[in-house]
Amino acid sequence: MSNLEDYKNVWVFIETEEGKAKNVGYELLTPARNLADQKKEKLVAIVIGYKVEDVAKQSIAHGADEAIVVDGEEYNIFSTDAYANALTTLIEKYKPSTVLLGATNNGRDVGPRVSCRLGTGLTADCTGLGIDEESGNVAWTRPAFGGNLMATILCPNTRPQMGTVRPGVFKRTPPDASRTGKITHEEIHTAADAIRTKILKRVKEVAEEVNLEEAEYIVSGGRGLGKPENFCYIRDLASVLKGTVGSSRAAVDAGWIAHAHQVGQTGKTVAPKIYIACGISGAIQHLAGMSDSDIIIAINKDPDAPIFNVADYGVVGNLFDIVPLLTEEIKKH
Ligand code: FAD
Repeated sequence: MSNLEDYKNVWVFIETEEGKAKNVGYELLTPARNLADQKKEKLVAIVIGYKVEDVAKQSIAHGADEAIVVDGEEYNIFSTDAYANALTTLIEKYKPSTVLLGATNNGRDVGPRVSCRLGTGLTADCTGLGIDEESGNVAWTRPAFGGNLMATILCPNTRPQMGTVRPGVFKRTPPDASRTGKITHEEIHTAADAIRTKILKRVKEVAEEVNLEEAEYIVSGGRGLGKPENFCYIRDLASVLKGTVGSSRAAVDAGWIAHAHQVGQTGKTVAPKIYIACGISGAIQHLAGMSDSDIIIAINKDPDAPIFNVADYGVVGNLFDIVPLLTEEIKKH
């Protein structure tokens, strides 16, 4: 059995789709760079996919020291078994101290399988990362008890320390094309009979409307809208801003809008330039998903609504008066 000291370097799993990286991988390189520097270890990007050489180079430009690439047609469409096998094989060979994955559908699927195969722990759905000064372990922070407190979790006795981190929590460092680093290629195949699931058909979400994590402008509606038809006010404002429609969970639970639009602890974590919350009270679980937005504008008829505690600009009033006025004003410019 290996000693903990045998495990070195911080890894970030750069999730790809159709040869392109998802934002979260590059975002995670920012906190991972800090961890690697503090631990005096290297930061390595793990790129698994098809035709992903450019992603490896981009990962280095975004802060990685090196990249390890597993490239093959079998990785073009995500398969839990193939990806879990590739990542487990790499970890067993290279022994990283720390592995970060995005808390996306795929990261949440593959991360726990890999940690289970390796007999190590995984802290799911983190929103903060640091180093525990006393033990030198990675300190993973995540919401607990329905978001009412933040738990810091250490993995002191096994390696690697693994965790999934929510998209949108960290900002990606601007790429520096002058950065160079070694790119290592590994060939890993998974036996056909070890792949237990087959993708029969892929149905894409209405992506143009629901790409919340990448959106620069988000207009969100909550229970204050009163009925599903009133989301037209939110859609109109989002449309003039060329933004995306978000929602609170109350609106989703009421069946007014699809879950893909939900922002918050059990929805998406977003960090747009401008987030406009209309008829949303600002429950802690909603704030958990949007409080990192650059500018928050809240429209609510209740002056004591908690959303005003995080808002940069607040309008106390009826959203059915204010939102159309705002939409018309923006249209003029
Ligand atoms: P409400 O709290 O009912 O607020 C409606 C607001 O609209 C009020 O402030 C009211 O003053 C205002 N309003 C009403 N009419 C008007 C009007 N005409 N003009 C202007 N303002 C008006 N919630 C999320 O959003 N995302 C999550 O991911 C999430 N995850 C959760 C996970 C767990 C484990 C739990 C327990 C809860 C979670 N919730 C989540 C639910 C959360 O606790 C709140 O219940 C929810 O956010 C409330 O949604 P809301 O603000 O739309 O509704």
